[in-house]
Amino acid sequence: PPRLRFAPSPTGFQHIGGFRTALFSWLFARHGGGQFILRIEDTDTARTVEGSVEDIIQGFHWLGMDYDEGPVVGGPYGPYFQLQRKALYQHYASQLIEQGHAYKCYCTPERIDAMRQERAAQKLPPRYDRHCRYLSAEERATNDAAGLSYTVRLAMPTEGETIVPDQLHGEMVFKNTDLDDMIILKSNGLAPYHLAHLVDDHLMEITHVLRDENWISTAPYHVQLYKNLGWEMPLFYHVPNVLGKDKRKLSKRRNAPAWGDFKREGYLPEAVFNFMALLGWAYDDKTEFFTAEELIRVFTLDRVSVSSGIYDPEKMLWMNGVYIRKLSLEELAERTLPYMERPEAEGGLPDSIQRPLDREYTKRVLELEQERLKTLGDAARAVSFFYLKDLEYDASMLIQKKMDAEGTHNALQQAHDLLASIEEWTHETLEPPMRELAQKLELKPGQLFGAVRVAVSASNATPPLFHMLSVLGREVSLKRLQEAIA
Ligand code: GLU
Repeated sequence: PPRLRFAPSPTGFQHIGGFRTALFSWLFARHGGGQFILRIEDTDTARTVEGSVEDIIQGFHWLGMDYDEGPVVGGPYGPYFQLQRKALYQHYASQLIEQGHAYKCYCTPERIDAMRQERAAQKLPPRYDRHCRYLSAEERATNDAAGLSYTVRLAMPTEGETIVPDQLHGEMVFKNTDLDDMIILKSNGLAPYHLAHLVDDHLMEITHVLRDENWISTAPYHVQLYKNLGWEMPLFYHVPNVLGKDKRKLSKRRNAPAWGDFKREGYLPEAVFNFMALLGWAYDDKTEFFTAEELIRVFTLDRVSVSSGIYDPEKMLWMNGVYIRKLSLEELAERTLPYMERPEAEGGLPDSIQRPLDREYTKRVLELEQERLKTLGDAARAVSFFYLKDLEYDASMLIQKKMDAEGTHNALQQAHDLLASIEEWTHETLEPPMRELAQKLELKPGQLFGAVRVAVSASNATPPLFHMLSVLGREVSLKRLQEAIA
């Protein structure tokens, strides 16, 4: 069975593109009845951002993706933090040196700088000049005896080609003369990505490596390392980047949403999950809606596309709305209440409205809004008038097209009196007499209803008027009409 991993560096918050790659690995592992592993690539300590591991784990939880091995849950191939695996990388670096596949480089940062400048001046490619590769045994012994600090570099072949087999892109051929003697162990004893991930993928028995296509350019080093270590390569899938609508790569800095943003705004995790699966993968040319179970069943890697997935926020919003409409009223209330009840400053209802909200009433309110909600977070703004004690609006809002203040006042007065005479208060009992009233007043229904709508909701955009009146109830509706007339 397949073993796949997600190997984020804890350098900040993962955006939707990062989780998309994790999702592909997760789906394929689940599809094949295998394992999905979370490994934290934290050897670049200077870039580590506190809290990022927790954020990733919470993101997995929120999206409903579990992992079989990794931080917190542990597992037989641990530890799952690379900093705790330091000795392993050092061991393999030494082995590579002994076997002549790697060498110690004693060049100081100053020498490296000077070399770079000189090569640039000579228009040579920006690479290490291999100075230390050709030191004599005595020179090395002297350097070691003097305790010089060193990095370990891979002794790449200086001629021929390296072929990177990739399941999505086919075989990619690199000229070895274009490649560098890459550092595989830094002077502080920590392994960079190139050695660390590879040792881990091997020891953790990873079968399929899905990673960003940005890694293609360094894949020939990895191929050489596998060869030198005598290890079988996992299957490589360099998956397409997720781009913004502007065709630029999503980045945390340029406003790519993180899972937490989706949660805060009231996207449903199952909608985000579904949407992410379509960023660079398709089942066919039409099916867009999948549950997690369906995706697990149909997800195969041969349908991953080589062209980029485009993150279209409007499509995400639309899809979320579709998912919201599929919720039962009970679920909708259950999931929306926390959004409505959070503090006003965080997007909840005005703080003047008492929490907890009445659940049954809220269900009736949400029933009217369900069709129009695009996010759960939208609810608070759309429905606050159902809860507010006092409405605030500019009286001029009451005045409808082709009406004046006096006519409006009269119409509202008549509407109030008529409505006050109706005891059984439902949309069916309210609408016909109100239509008659409009006729009697020689108003278009829209004019009369529009004025009443503003009077009871302080808004021009609401659910259907008579349904709204029936949910607001007789007492509140009449009181608000009264206030509008006063
Ligand atoms: N730590 C690497 C990253 O964050 C992982 C790449 C990989 O999946 O191999 O991009």
